[in-house]
Amino acid sequence: MSDKVASIRGMNDILPEHTRLWQWLEDRVREVLCGYGYGEIRMPVLEHTELFRRSIGEATDIVEKEMYSFADRNGDSLTLRPEGTAGCVRAAREHGLLHNQVQRLWYAGPMFRHERPQAGRYRQFHQIGVETFGMSGPDIDAELILMTARIWRALGLADHVRLELNSLGEPEDRGRYREALVAYLSRHRERLDDDSQRRLERNPLRILDTKDPGTREVLEDAPRLEEYLGDEAREHFRELCAMLDAAGLAYEVNPRLVRGLDYYGRTVFEWVTDALGAQGTVCAGGRYDGLVEQLGGRSTPAVGFAMGLERLVLLLEQNTPELPAPAELYIVAPGQSTAALLLAEELRNTLPGRRIVCHCGGGSFKSQMKKADRSGAHLALLLGEQELENDSVTVKPLRGDGPQEEVPRGQLGTRLAELLTPN
Ligand code: ATP
Ligand code: MG
Repeated sequence: MSDKVASIRGMNDILPEHTRLWQWLEDRVREVLCGYGYGEIRMPVLEHTELFRRSIGEATDIVEKEMYSFADRNGDSLTLRPEGTAGCVRAAREHGLLHNQVQRLWYAGPMFRHERPQAGRYRQFHQIGVETFGMSGPDIDAELILMTARIWRALGLADHVRLELNSLGEPEDRGRYREALVAYLSRHRERLDDDSQRRLERNPLRILDTKDPGTREVLEDAPRLEEYLGDEAREHFRELCAMLDAAGLAYEVNPRLVRGLDYYGRTVFEWVTDALGAQGTVCAGGRYDGLVEQLGGRSTPAVGFAMGLERLVLLLEQNTPELPAPAELYIVAPGQSTAALLLAEELRNTLPGRRIVCHCGGGSFKSQMKKADRSGAHLALLLGEQELENDSVTVKPLRGDGPQEEVPRGQLGTRLAELLTPN
C-alpha cells in the first residue's frame, strides 16, 4: 500500500476551477426556487437506518445493496442518507410543519449510495431536492414540473432535456397490476435477464425500467399499468396533462416509467437527456401521498423531485455558460505590499461586491502582471514608486485594447465603476 492516503472511490473533490460552475448552477436553481416561494430546509446527512428501510422500501436496490450503514459507537444502526425525501419528511413531521398546513421546501447537499462509479454515477453525489406537503390536486404537480422547466431555461439547457411522465395510480391499482404483470412475466421467465428474474418476486414493477433488449421485447405485450388505474388517479393524471398542455409544455407519457423508490404513487416524472449515455436522468420525482403516514405522521399529500447536480454539471460543460472571472481587479505593486493591501481594503469599501485580488508574496513586476492576466481580471491596478509619489494609481486594461491611464486616488472609485461592467 502506498504511503499516501487517497480519496474513496466514487467520492470526488471539486476544485475551484469547477466550483465556479457549480456555484453558478446552484445560484440559478436557488433563484428560481425563491421565485416560487420555496423555503430551504437543512437536514443531517446521517439518519437512523430504520427511516430509509421504512420509506424507500426493503426490496429496492438502494436499501438492498447501496446504503452506507454502520453501527454507531452505542450500537445504533445509522445510514448516510441515500436521498433527501425521507429525511425531509422526518424533519417536517418532527417539527410540526405538516399539521394543517401547506409546505413548499427545498434542500441541497450530498447523498451517498454504494453504486458502481462511472461517468454521471458516483458514491457521493449531490442533489437539489424539492418537497411539497398538504396539496393533493394536480396543480402542485404541474407547478413543480413548470418550475423545473424554468430551471432548465435559466441554465440554458431547455433544448437538451425532455420530460417523461406517467401515473402509477393508487397502491390498490398497483397491487392489481403487479399481480397481472407477475403472472404474465412468469410465463416468459426464461426470456428475462437475470436481474429481472430476481426482481420478479421482490420488485416486479422495476422490471418495466429494464435496459435489457430481450426483456424489453417480452414487455412489449405485457399488461399496461394504465389499464389498471382507478378513476381518481386517472382523472388526476388527465388534469395534470391538461395543465401542462395549457402552459405549452411538451412531454411524453411513458407508460413504462417507474421509479426506484417504493413510496411513489400517482404522478411520476423524469427529465432526461440523450447527451450523457446511460446516466440520462437529470431530475426525477413524483407524488408520495402515503409516505408521511407510513413514517408515523397523519395522512398528508406530498409531491417532490430531486435533480442530480453532477449530471447537470456534465451537461453544462457541454453547453458552457459565461461565468464571472474569479477576479475583476488585480492589484500589482512590486515592493509595496503594505500600500497594496491598504489600496485593496479601500476599494473593497468603495466598490462593494467587486472581486478584488491583491498580489501577495512579492515578485517582479513581470511575474505579478502574469498572475494578474491569469486571474481573469478586467483591470490591473499598478501601484509603484511613481504612483505613490503622485497619490495616484495606474489603471491598465487586461482585456480589449483600451488605453492605460493614471488616475488620482480621489477619483479612483468613480473611474473604476465606469470602466467595469455593472455588477
Ligand atoms: P438512476 O436511475 O440514474 O439510478 P435514480 O432513479 O436512482 O436514478 P433518484 O433516486 O430519483 O435517482 O435521484 C434523483 C436524481 O439524482 C437522479 O435523476 C440523478 O440525476 C441523481 N442521481 C441518483 N443517483 C446518482 C448517483 N449515484 N450519482 C450521481 N447522480 C445520481
Ligand atoms: Mg439509481
